Amino acid sequence: MNPRQIIADNVARIRQRIAAAAARSGRSADAVKLIAVTKYVGLDEIAALREAGCSAFGESQPQTLWKKAATLPGEPIDWHFIGHLQRNKVRRTVPLVACLHSGDSLRLLEELNAEVQRASLPRFPVLLEVNVSGDESKHGFAPGELEALWPALAALVHLEIRGLMGMAALEGGVDVARQNFQSLRECRDRLQKSDPKGIALAELSMGMSGDFEVAIEEGATMVRVGSSLFEGVE
Ligand SMILES: *Cc1c(COP(=O)(O)O)cnc(C)c1O
Repeated sequence: MNPRQIIADNVARIRQRIAAAAARSGRSADAVKLIAVTKYVGLDEIAALREAGCSAFGESQPQTLWKKAATLPGEPIDWHFIGHLQRNKVRRTVPLVACLHSGDSLRLLEELNAEVQRASLPRFPVLLEVNVSGDESKHGFAPGELEALWPALAALVHLEIRGLMGMAALEGGVDVARQNFQSLRECRDRLQKSDPKGIALAELSMGMSGDFEVAIEEGATMVRVGSSLFEGVE
């Protein structure tokens, strides 16, 4: 089978699995956005994903994002940045990105806020990355740290903090992943209760190829799926 057909079939199958998991959590399929992670692939695969109806793409490295965005100008693509962003890459990255999932430190968020103001850009959508697994290798805020940071975060008026992002532990399988996703949701609920001014926190970006159904059952509104989209393509 040709790669385009394989990708189209994979997208269809993943959308069905998303819809089924959403139904199990009492929600419609539209309540969950599929972010197609394209960090492993090139422009042909991106074209195939677009033909299959995908319009939100995730990249984790700024240089790769810059290159792809420059090669696909004018395409109706929403780029989601999902990797660690160094502050010296902020200026070139912000104008290309629809939502940054990986707001992982106050210093980065302050830099983003300052850049949006400097360049007179519209309020910039960000999620706060929370290290719910506690893995040393992962970036992000500690779950217990955010409440004390609210005043500083709420002062970043050029950012629109839309929610939280998290990743499951590398070890432990689906059961541990579910606990990690529950922790992220509880963290969000706690913060919402403390009613931070002007901050809605509607989005929960959680779940990847190996665990997106569990994430949806636990309340994900965005899933970041990469490798499953390209299964069977050489
Ligand atoms: C690569 C990546 C994904 C996608 O992972 P798959 O297992 O290939 O689906 C999701 N989120 C982040 C932050 C990533 O870096």
